[in-house]
Amino acid sequence: MGGETIFAKIIRREVPAKIVYETDHVLAFHDVNPQAPIHILIIPKEPIRDLASAKADHKELLGELLVAVNEIAREQGLLQDGFRVVINNGARAGQTVFHLHLHLMGGRSFAWPPG
Ligand code: 5GP
Repeated sequence: MGGETIFAKIIRREVPAKIVYETDHVLAFHDVNPQAPIHILIIPKEPIRDLASAKADHKELLGELLVAVNEIAREQGLLQDGFRVVINNGARAGQTVFHLHLHLMGGRSFAWPPG
């Protein structure tokens, strides 16, 4: 099953985080180990393990996550310069925290392909 992650503790304010955005269903906070000048994690409050675990029932929630990305990108002044959004699904793709999250990164250039 896999237990609770550090993100559940952040949602409950048991672990501190620099929170930048919150709705009933979504929370966003700065990544503790940023890979870009701006690196924010956007998560559902519901503990969905990874993107592949999301069901059709989560359609609205998945949309809310992308709407949050847009609002945060605007608030952070990233719309002009561009930004990157990443979801790592599974350990082989680089996922280390098994609570679905979107990485929003900006403030620098990004290579493609990502490697
Ligand atoms: P993943 O590798 O699973 O796609 O991304 C997990 C991200 O969570 C990493 O970028 C990592 O730096 C971040 N992270 C892990 N633990 C914490 C924490 O306790 N607080 C915050 N703010 N970020 C964390």
